[in-house]
Amino acid sequence: MRVALLSSEVVPFAKTGGLADVAGALPKALREHDRDAVVILPHYDQIDRGFLTDKVIENVPVEWRGGVRPTRVWQSDAAGAPGYLIEAPEYFSRPSIYGYGDDHERFAFFSRATLALCKHLDWQPDIIHGNDWPCGFAVIELRARRRYDSFYQPTRTLFSIHNIAYQGAFDRRDLWWLGFGDPPERDDFMFKGAASALKAGLIAADALTTVSRRYAEEVQTPEQGYGLDWLLRARRNRFVGVTNGVDYDIWNPETDPHIAANFSAEDLAGKRECKLDLLRRFGLPQEPDRPIIAIVSRLVAQKGYDLIRQAAGAILDTGSFFIALGAGDKEYEDFLQRWHDSAPQRVGIYKGYAGEPLAHQIEAGADMFLMPSLYEPCGLNQMYSMRYATVPIVRATGGLDDTVENFDPERGAGNGFKFYPYTTSALLEKIREALYFYGKPEAWTQMQRNGMTMDNSWSAAAKKYLEIYEEILKSPT
Ligand code: ADP
Repeated sequence: MRVALLSSEVVPFAKTGGLADVAGALPKALREHDRDAVVILPHYDQIDRGFLTDKVIENVPVEWRGGVRPTRVWQSDAAGAPGYLIEAPEYFSRPSIYGYGDDHERFAFFSRATLALCKHLDWQPDIIHGNDWPCGFAVIELRARRRYDSFYQPTRTLFSIHNIAYQGAFDRRDLWWLGFGDPPERDDFMFKGAASALKAGLIAADALTTVSRRYAEEVQTPEQGYGLDWLLRARRNRFVGVTNGVDYDIWNPETDPHIAANFSAEDLAGKRECKLDLLRRFGLPQEPDRPIIAIVSRLVAQKGYDLIRQAAGAILDTGSFFIALGAGDKEYEDFLQRWHDSAPQRVGIYKGYAGEPLAHQIEAGADMFLMPSLYEPCGLNQMYSMRYATVPIVRATGGLDDTVENFDPERGAGNGFKFYPYTTSALLEKIREALYFYGKPEAWTQMQRNGMTMDNSWSAAAKKYLEIYEEILKSPT
């Protein structure tokens, strides 16, 4: 079986969030199940040259804006599977991955180039697996091509939602020159008076997934469907949730090269050293008995930063350190700066995208990891935290609800703490509950071990994807 996984971000090349972790891990996991999986992404300027080889494919002919644009494609196996990186400096030589007025054009080009590449290589995929709105273009184009391009006739598509709030909306007049001006494609893009690459993908794909079971239910409700709930309800027999796995080659405290000392469920001693190292890195006093509550996330409303802002004073009143790593909205960056300035001995911050090492050091050194998300499709950090003996405190939404179980001292069961209402008081109550058990070393260690020994590996998720691919290949389009 040949699978081409398409993504706008892939670890270790380019990353803003969890999508990159997933796209970096799944092709590798599929190959471990003996499938011929490749990963395709844009060739961004900021990609570390060390990950690239000299192997390039020249002059892939991409039909674009009424002509043919010869395109260079780089090759690299750095993600543990054959990787292809589409070069187009006019689109991808920019400081950031997203955030430009022509993002739809950039990723429409990427999508078209991926289909041109497979054909150029005469590598006929059984499955094109697109992820999030940037790949919606590829999914709908594939459906159109099946009508006139015999090369793609047998190919089927899976489209995965990693976050339904990002919908790839653009001016519908652009559909013409992007090559989607005729029905049915034109109409399948139309959404709220504009064009949406996400909606196009959701309609055109042979099957759909999202990244947890709970989120698959949530996006079918008007409250969380962002206007597309009706479509997901209509396609529910082709739509399932598959909880993301963790790449334990990368996120493993026993072997992690980024952390001050390695540790395991049998021997947690190294964690204390990691804690001291973390305090040092953030310029905080060496007080290892004071709990550290940490957060690593994009600084957006989704991640619950409004709650943290409201609870900031009360969180410090509990006597904890707070460490935050994040990049994103200015209002939250400003809040973090003010919070730090008001209590520099207690609040450590890093504003910006720090890359992998610091994220690993926080997971290893913190005692508790906070994820008070408004919504959370899957969430990876709570699973990383558990592996690193850092107890997650989360809001019970999406994948957080699926993966975190409240600690039950009577049975010694559970791996963290979760609260339900999106309120400051519910958040604070859970933090206080967690701190109470932090003061009871036996219970705390039990909880840490429960989390560390959970198996959230990719193997199970990859098997699920394989089942889905096989089912799509069997069913008529
Ligand atoms: P999302 O995909 O919504 O951003 P996830 O929890 O699924 O949330 O994944 C977030 C990933 O991005 C994690 O691997 C996390 O460590 C990483 N990350 C987020 N913000 C930063 C940052 N500022 N610096 C380094 N890594 C970050």
